[in-house]
Amino acid sequence: MPRDLGGRIHLIFKTEPCAIIQVRIRLSLYHFKHQWAMFHMLGLIRLLISLTMEPGFQWVISGYHRKFALKKIEVNELFRPKFLIYGVAMNELKKLVFISVMAAFLCSAYAKEIALTFDDAPVSSTVYFETHKRTSKLIRKLKALSVPPVIIFANPCKRDDSNSIIVQLRAYTIAGHIIGNHTCSHPRLDKVGFDSFLEDALKADEILTPLYSGQKYFRYPFLNEGTDESARNQMRDWLGRNNYRNGLVSVDNDDTIVTDKIIKAKEQGKKVDHKKVEKLFLKHILSAAEFYDKLAVKNLGYSPKHVLLLHEMDGTVLYVDSLVKELRKNGWKIISAKEAYEDPLYLKTPKNTYAGNGIIAQLDYEKTGHKPKIGYYKWDELEKDLNKLLGLAP
Ligand SMILES: [Zn+2]
Repeated sequence: MPRDLGGRIHLIFKTEPCAIIQVRIRLSLYHFKHQWAMFHMLGLIRLLISLTMEPGFQWVISGYHRKFALKKIEVNELFRPKFLIYGVAMNELKKLVFISVMAAFLCSAYAKEIALTFDDAPVSSTVYFETHKRTSKLIRKLKALSVPPVIIFANPCKRDDSNSIIVQLRAYTIAGHIIGNHTCSHPRLDKVGFDSFLEDALKADEILTPLYSGQKYFRYPFLNEGTDESARNQMRDWLGRNNYRNGLVSVDNDDTIVTDKIIKAKEQGKKVDHKKVEKLFLKHILSAAEFYDKLAVKNLGYSPKHVLLLHEMDGTVLYVDSLVKELRKNGWKIISAKEAYEDPLYLKTPKNTYAGNGIIAQLDYEKTGHKPKIGYYKWDELEKDLNKLLGLAP
């Protein structure tokens, strides 16, 4: 081994459970005067395993002149994974390959997968989009980003002309996406009771049937499955008997706030800095995804195929390309909604009636008896920041 080979070695393990393990190795000539492989390989494997089990942090191990520093850094301080190899002799290259392969193996075991779903379609026209144009915009963007088929959860009673709604929604199915039932007029089960809720769901079923093919999906408006056990059970039975899967959500969030705020700002003649709004939007969704992934691992012991709740609304449609890119940049693989729903997670029927933040939150509640403390950049902070940014009154 050349005496002067080496330099600085950084191994960075992104240790959110089931996240991709990122390894950054930087070697340079001239600085390092001894063998760089200071880590015993077995020790390194043990370290990798133990560190990957600890959620919430990243660890940076720096090796330099026989001194090693191990420090914990905040997740969002992560710098982009990068391989920088300036000069590496063959032996060293082999070791690098070995570490990379090992990391890749662990990466595959901990892959983060997520599917996109869009509720409340077709959303009416606004100052940003005429309703049909919004729909075609979303379809075009999903296609350009090669996003696998999503589910569009529709409310077909939004306009009187259900025929034109069908034509509008059919554009999604032509593009390969799936249409799901989100009831006809978006009632809250707890508010209207089982009979009226079912009637609404049936109406949607009738209108949407020509758009269905294969498995049918139903998503409760407001993710409200009912706090009345009997109503909840009756609706679950009805779904089962009618070939509907519950379109559960694993990653809850409040993307609708962003749309509400940019519309309000535009209507009030305020300047909307979309780049800045988009940044807050991304921070909100990405942190929610990471949060629910960790909560899932805590409760299930594995990282499930996630289902992300989104809405066919202005802000979401405007920023969806950046969202997809940002998710991918952060190690998420976008999968089809159908594939996500194959995860056994979505067959679970918790006994408790806490339904509002998705299945992961509900399972956590089942275990702990209290609602999980939401540990991400959540709606109230987002709302405050948006008001400030857009000059809106709280
Ligand atoms: Zn909805």
